[in-house]
Amino acid sequence: MKIRKGDTVLILSGKDRGRKGRVIETFPKKGRVIIEGINLRKKHVRPKRSGEKGQIVERPAPINVSNIKLICSKCGKATRVGYKTEGKKKYRICKKCKGEI
Ligand SMILES: [Zn+2]
Repeated sequence: MKIRKGDTVLILSGKDRGRKGRVIETFPKKGRVIIEGINLRKKHVRPKRSGEKGQIVERPAPINVSNIKLICSKCGKATRVGYKTEGKKKYRICKKCKGEI
């Protein structure tokens, strides 16, 4: 998967379209990521002990990587990701500015 934890991405679809956020978790097998503050879902939390109140918390739900685009840390543009190998080292490059991401 081309998106990694800590990347800043642009949301391309859904109610958060056009917003940017930081990737806080990735699920490479499912092709999904969780982005900070994006795709929030309300979740009802039941009280753990009697006397405690249940509450509603908002948590970001995973979104498909096809619905996001990486924002290059070098040029700041939403871009596609390429790969470059030098010897044994493989790294990601921005398709727009060719900079290492
Ligand atoms: Zn770039």
